[in-house]
Amino acid sequence: FDMFILAFVERLFRPTYRKDDFVLGKKLGEGAFGVVYRVSLAKKPSSKKEGDLVLKKATEYGAVEIWMNERVRRACANSCADFLYGFLETSPKKGAEYWLLWWFEGEATLSDLMLSKEFPYNVETMITGKVQESPKGLERENRIIQTIMRQLLFALDGLHSTGIVHRDIKPQNIIFSEGSRTFKIIDLGAAADLRVGINYIPKEFLLDPRYAAPEQYIMSTQTPSAPSAPVATALSPVLWQMNLPDRFDIYSAGLIFLQMAFPALRTDSGLIQFNRQLKRCDYDLDAWRKSVEPRASLELRRGFELLDLDGGIGWELLTSMVRYKARQRTSAKAALAHPYFDREGLLVLSFMQ
Ligand code: ADP
Ligand code: MG
Repeated sequence: FDMFILAFVERLFRPTYRKDDFVLGKKLGEGAFGVVYRVSLAKKPSSKKEGDLVLKKATEYGAVEIWMNERVRRACANSCADFLYGFLETSPKKGAEYWLLWWFEGEATLSDLMLSKEFPYNVETMITGKVQESPKGLERENRIIQTIMRQLLFALDGLHSTGIVHRDIKPQNIIFSEGSRTFKIIDLGAAADLRVGINYIPKEFLLDPRYAAPEQYIMSTQTPSAPSAPVATALSPVLWQMNLPDRFDIYSAGLIFLQMAFPALRTDSGLIQFNRQLKRCDYDLDAWRKSVEPRASLELRRGFELLDLDGGIGWELLTSMVRYKARQRTSAKAALAHPYFDREGLLVLSFMQ
């Protein structure tokens, strides 16, 4: 009940917007379920922060995405892009469209940064706020990758502790926030909130096969069809523990870790080929390593070398994330306590922290 009052009061004092308040800028993305633009407010109020927003015009799944973003803002604000407002816009021409607004977090997703030749040094510059002079090498790269993984797992832990599974974790859905100098998660369109049963029936066609864990469905097939919301509230903590749906995101995050260590896996074709090889090895990373290492290129060997630093704790963390059985995968919280993160990461120079 308190939460309800709080939400209501918050709603009252938050500005509301409508269609004509925005000027559309550059198109940032276009998927099957919506279009994303950079926009500014038509009449800029004095506040300097205003004017740089992101707008998503979404089809039927927009309602879920608004709901998820509202919930994230109240429960784990730092995990995801800063959400401003969402509303339903109906016009005779386009019918019903959901409009979602976020603050513009920054120019680059982890995907953009990873595809650059400078990776991971480009990220180091963005996080620390300056170009580092120290010599390049594996140790330094490992420290940068470790910092990115910690930020990603921290954001995931926030979502999972709230009861939300993202289900579409991939570099394209991780944005670098220039304000906080940290990575944040975006795109909650395929997310499920298991504590209240929103988007409870898995929409497996929404999942990106390149990053999806082998189980695909986040709930076991034995789980009965979606109960009504009140029932779900009573049941879901138990279901959560039984099925560990959060481990779906952990698998995807593990693949991102792998892509950061091995440049060859950063392209679509590289990742797809890896997925095929891993499947042939029954999703056993150690078996995959045995099969590729003997005839590995210099670059591939360098990736193993990076993960083998400090007695192989990087490889150990990776193999605890990318496993066939969800229940054998580590959780975001447990991963953050892994010795891989014992070493100090990059110092985040931030105005906000
Ligand atoms: P889609 O359903 O098209 O994948 P996303 O929510 O992932 O929609 O957004 C598409 C793209 O828009 C992202 O990959 C990112 O480049 C950009 N974007 C989304 N939200 C933000 C934000 N808050 N700040 C900056 N860029 C964003
Ligand atoms: Mg996306």
